[in-house]
Amino acid sequence: MDLFEYQARDMFERHGVPVLQGLIADTPEEAEAAAAKIGGVVVVKAQVKTGGRGKAGGVKVAKSPEEAKEAAEKILGLDIKGHVVKRVMIAEGASIDKEFYFSVLLDRSNRTFLSLCSVEGGMEIEQLAEERPEALAKIAVDAVRGIDKAKAIEIAKAGGFGDDLVDKVADVFVTLYKVFVEEDATLVEVNPLVLTTDGKILALDGKVSLDDNAEFRHNDRHDLQRDDLDPLEAKAKAMDLNYVKLDGEVGIIGNGAGLVMSTLDVVAYAGEKHGGVRPANFLDIGGGASAEVMAAGLDVILGDPQVKSVFVNVFGGITACDAVANGIVGALNTLGATATKPLVVRLDGNNVNEGRRILAEYGHPLVTVVETMDEAADKAAELANK
Ligand code: GDP
Ligand code: MN
Repeated sequence: MDLFEYQARDMFERHGVPVLQGLIADTPEEAEAAAAKIGGVVVVKAQVKTGGRGKAGGVKVAKSPEEAKEAAEKILGLDIKGHVVKRVMIAEGASIDKEFYFSVLLDRSNRTFLSLCSVEGGMEIEQLAEERPEALAKIAVDAVRGIDKAKAIEIAKAGGFGDDLVDKVADVFVTLYKVFVEEDATLVEVNPLVLTTDGKILALDGKVSLDDNAEFRHNDRHDLQRDDLDPLEAKAKAMDLNYVKLDGEVGIIGNGAGLVMSTLDVVAYAGEKHGGVRPANFLDIGGGASAEVMAAGLDVILGDPQVKSVFVNVFGGITACDAVANGIVGALNTLGATATKPLVVRLDGNNVNEGRRILAEYGHPLVTVVETMDEAADKAAELANK
């Protein structure tokens, strides 16, 4: 889960990262009141989960509550790279001398953590990495040792900090690493980390991604819950399904993440012959494909107006194919008239013959049972293209 900037700011504050005051507002009037409460110069900042807000007009300095109100009027409703702004943060203004960059993240390809650091912050990091790669230090961080003061100093020096600032920023890096570990994050990024004209180091922007697999260790996460989730994803989450919405027309249900991933590939490939239809989602119903889980999955997928056909691809293992077939029958009975789109089912593995027999006997007009994965993908793509 990615956090909004204001949620990252709150998290930083709890861990002792130096930040400025920030209040959220959903209307220009709330923005005005927040600016009055903070007092002085404030910055009105779009709260969207994408970078480059500054360039897109989503960050505006306001010298009075009236100006903050006007800025919020302009920013609320703005479309930033496809994200519509519904909320702004009113942040205490800072007088900036220099802007820096720091992040720590999970480096999957090297099976370690990685810290990126540069004295040339502010601009988008992708741009810096491309234009001046030598200015961006990339330092591997051992997961056991982490970022202690010595490591932080190594990172700061590699990032180009001079002796005057190394010690000061290193302390902040140590604290940011503490956030990374204690919050089970996969990314903590500060851009810009700034030096103010009165010599303070502050995190002026924060981007935090949390590891959803560690959610059980954090009982305070519920209020962070994804207020920006796609409605179908929210519904799937409420039903504990591993669902990701995609853009295509063929709904996919499978058991096991690997099987579902390869199903997406096979459907995308088959779709090339059928008007370019593509997978509509990822949905892994896991090992125990009970009727309830199957019904919940079908319910979510059939609720996607873009879906034209559904491909159920199950390999019976611990849960045998007859149980899955009964799950499909139960699901279709539960859904009744709300099941309106053709279903292509491919079953294989444990008790496959009994599974196919159950579906044949049920004889639902919307269900086609196909023997192989390739044939089933082709059929599902064909049906989605009608
Ligand atoms: P991003 O463009 O989405 O990364 O948004 P940022 O929060 O990084 O803000 C973009 C830029 O706005 C920063 O690089 C700063 O130059 C500027 N900015 C943000 N907060 C303040 C502030 O409090 N005072 C001043 N003067 N500038 C700010
Ligand atoms: Mn930024």
